[in-house]
Amino acid sequence: MIKLERCQRPKSFTTAKENELTTEYITGKNLTPWQTAYIKKAVRKQSHYKCAYCECLGKNPSNKDTSKLPDLHTDHYFLKKVYPYKVVNLDNLLSACPTCNSERKKELDALDEPIIHPVIHNPKEHLGIKNHLFYGKTALGEKTATIFKLKNFREHCLKLMELLFDDNAYYSQLDKLHVICQNYSQETPKTQETRNTITDSLRQIMQQATPTAKYSAYMATHLLQYPAYQDIKTILNQEQLWTNEFIELEKQVSFCALI
Ligand SMILES: [Zn+2]
Repeated sequence: MIKLERCQRPKSFTTAKENELTTEYITGKNLTPWQTAYIKKAVRKQSHYKCAYCECLGKNPSNKDTSKLPDLHTDHYFLKKVYPYKVVNLDNLLSACPTCNSERKKELDALDEPIIHPVIHNPKEHLGIKNHLFYGKTALGEKTATIFKLKNFREHCLKLMELLFDDNAYYSQLDKLHVICQNYSQETPKTQETRNTITDSLRQIMQQATPTAKYSAYMATHLLQYPAYQDIKTILNQEQLWTNEFIELEKQVSFCALI
């Protein structure tokens, strides 16, 4: 889970329109006003077309996305049944995958049992990762990790292990890059081809731990704590290859990391 910036209010979504849709819902005239196209789009964009809770990727309908990714639901942080006047309030809407919305959060009343709202709270103040498992740094984080099964190794981490430890996956990419960097630092003459390989590979690795990437909190936390990454950074600094591009990318990675 990463911090999200509040979505921009769509121009067509005036206060009068919000009141109208809310009234339609309360009177039973419109049972799903949150499905209004511009509301859905704004809410999905707010979490980079990912689930705001577990950060799995969802479909991006504005790109005519035909992938097998799940259609994201619009989750009401405060239950629409209990708080119908918040039914289309943008502060109350988050994109969530079907699993987080329908199987985990379900009918949880966030007023009675608060969980992290990633627009209001900063997840890194409440959640951490240790030995590949999420844990709560605070009661709010603990509750959130429990509800979304972020602490459950089988539920959450097996898919991430696959993501991280496949032959061509994250850590092997990092380890390969580490060796290339170590060789490069001893090489004479140093070739442009190797420099391109290093910068292209590092860019690709770091982009997988930025806000638009799936499971970015998890990826970013591990990247920054992985010893080979720190060594690669040291070598690139010595070789004057740690450019502004990587400084900026690292800021984005740090933003996502639960450290
Ligand atoms: Zn989810």
